[in-house]
Amino acid sequence: MTAVSAVPTVMAGPDRLGRSLRDVRISVTDRCNFRCPYCMPKARFGPGHRFLPRAEALDAGEIVRLAGVFASLGATKIRLTGGEPLLRTDLAEIVGGIAELGVPDIALTTNGALLRRWADRLRDAGLQRVTVSLDSLDPAVFTAMSDSRIELREVLDGIAAAREAGLEPIKLNCVVQRGVNEDGLLDLVGFARREGLGLRCIEYMDVGATNRWRPADVVSGEEILERVRRVYPLLEETPDPTAVARTYRFADGAGDLGVITSVSRPFCGDCTRARLGVDGKLYTCLFATSGIDLREPLRSGADDDTLRRIVADRWKRRDDRYSELRGLGIADGERIEMSYIGG
Ligand code: SAM
Ligand code: SF4
Ligand code: SF4
Repeated sequence: MTAVSAVPTVMAGPDRLGRSLRDVRISVTDRCNFRCPYCMPKARFGPGHRFLPRAEALDAGEIVRLAGVFASLGATKIRLTGGEPLLRTDLAEIVGGIAELGVPDIALTTNGALLRRWADRLRDAGLQRVTVSLDSLDPAVFTAMSDSRIELREVLDGIAAAREAGLEPIKLNCVVQRGVNEDGLLDLVGFARREGLGLRCIEYMDVGATNRWRPADVVSGEEILERVRRVYPLLEETPDPTAVARTYRFADGAGDLGVITSVSRPFCGDCTRARLGVDGKLYTCLFATSGIDLREPLRSGADDDTLRRIVADRWKRRDDRYSELRGLGIADGERIEMSYIGG
């Protein structure tokens, strides 16, 4: 596998809004074993849906090489996501290659269903920590929100496997949707506190073009905090300019809670994140309507300096701030689906 060194050479940025490139999310597959209606609704991602043919997706060596390009431009954190990353049989090879680059922080976001099968191999390959998405502890709500035959107990077992493998700290992601799982929020908070998991509650977002998002379906971060505080007192926000989530420690010392307020209180001003899509396109915002192709130059023999220049030039022109514009009512365009661009 060819990989460039992670030592920064040409630092990217800052972009037009003064933001440097610090972290990268890589979608390693657009496929998934769940059909969460807020992300990959069956109506659109049903049996007739055409996923990206495998030959068009980046292979493990290509992903690692581009990870090296980002790292050499100053990225210190790489998160593997998708789609469901554990569906890629060469995931350990990808993790191992990125670990060899010396990237300080390598993370994975997964729905957890296949973690029992993968946890040890990923740890051995160099994965440090894992984020598991879990929207409800009620089996019926879990099934409605994942829309698959996979059972809640398999995800809970996946979390246990991650712990046994030492993939810690383990974080939990929960998308809170009005009238769907909001009533189970406190159960999830109690579970996270007991198990020592860092729960992050995400405001439901208008990602992609198929989830029929409506502002009325969003439960705001403020409301989430308010509900939690009534039962589990929280201290003042813990300042962390590097984190996307606003985090709050529980007053009794039992861990912390994060809220990701992309809708009610956008944080575009601090957004240092690039995304590498499953097809090798570089996207500079989760809500992008287009990206620039890195696969073509990669496959036609471009050297690392050329790839670095392409990325750095694009980053320099970046002026994305979709979530702030949404708040002003002036955001539009056909957005790329989240599974493709890397959630
Ligand atoms: N399949 C993996 C998983 O579910 O963890 C990784 C990919 S998934 C797209 C990454 C994260 O995006 C998950 O935590 C998921 O809950 C979140 N997500 C997906 N659609 C969302 C939406 N419409 N609003 C907010 N978060 C969303
Ligand atoms: Fe799959 Fe994750 Fe999207 Fe759910 S949120 S459909 S698990 S990619
Ligand atoms: Fe970053 Fe785009 Fe999200 Fe703003 S909307 S925080 S620019 S990804």
